[in-house]
Amino acid sequence: MTQDVPEDDDLTCTQVVMLITDYLDDALPTTERALLDEHLADCDGCSAVLEQFRTTVAVTGTLAQDDVDRLDDTTREELLGVFRRWSADRPPA
Ligand SMILES: [Zn+2]
Repeated sequence: MTQDVPEDDDLTCTQVVMLITDYLDDALPTTERALLDEHLADCDGCSAVLEQFRTTVAVTGTLAQDDVDRLDDTTREELLGVFRRWSADRPPA
């Protein structure tokens, strides 16, 4: 086996990161939310990302550059891409 192919109903870390903002907004359908919870229970990396998002969004309502800088490069790039799209969908208050 050269590749780790997830089962159909398993989320990858990238998918989890992409869904995290919806998760925090309570915008996920119950099924997806359950899958995300399942992944988070087993994945320290995604749990850390979720905590980071949760704390940051709770305190500032947005994602600060300093918070992003503390993440590893791959996660940071993924988060930044996700967050840019997320922000782009939201008109400034
Ligand atoms: Zn993960």
